[in-house]
This record gives sequence, structure tokens and C-alpha cells, in this order.
Amino acid sequence: MPEWKGRVPLTRSHLPYFSVSRYGRPVIQLGGYRFNKNNRSKGSKMYWTCTKSATGCRASITTLDYRIVKQNTNHCH
Ligand SMILES: [Zn+2]
Repeated sequence: MPEWKGRVPLTRSHLPYFSVSRYGRPVIQLGGYRFNKNNRSKGSKMYWTCTKSATGCRASITTLDYRIVKQNTNHCH
């Protein structure tokens, strides 16, 4: 089980919830949206892009040691 899973209770929706997709890939749930871990992630600094990025959504999150240090939550959907 990945170490980030369940760091924050899902009910606190304003906080990021670290989880894994059904394919076993790390995801973050935040504000009703899901973000996939980006390949540029390196060490404890991770980049996350909205699961709808393929449709043009530019929303993204940057985390460091499981804390959000940067976020763009301007979703287009
Ligand atoms: Zn989005």
C-alpha cells in the first residue's frame, strides 16, 4: 500500500486526499477533482495534473512532502 494513501480524511474536501486509482497509480483528490501524478515528479516534489488535462484543462498542483506548495485550480469543466 502506498505510503501517501489516506493521509487526510476524504470528508475534509478542501484538503488534498492522497489516494490511488484502480490502476494503482497515485492520484490526489481535491475540491471534487482528481489529479494524476505527472512524470516530471522527482523525489519528494511532485507535480499533479487534472485528470481532464487531455481535454484542455490546465489545472495542476505541486506538492512537497505531501503538502501543497503551489496550485492552479482553474478548471475548464
Ligand atoms: Zn480540471
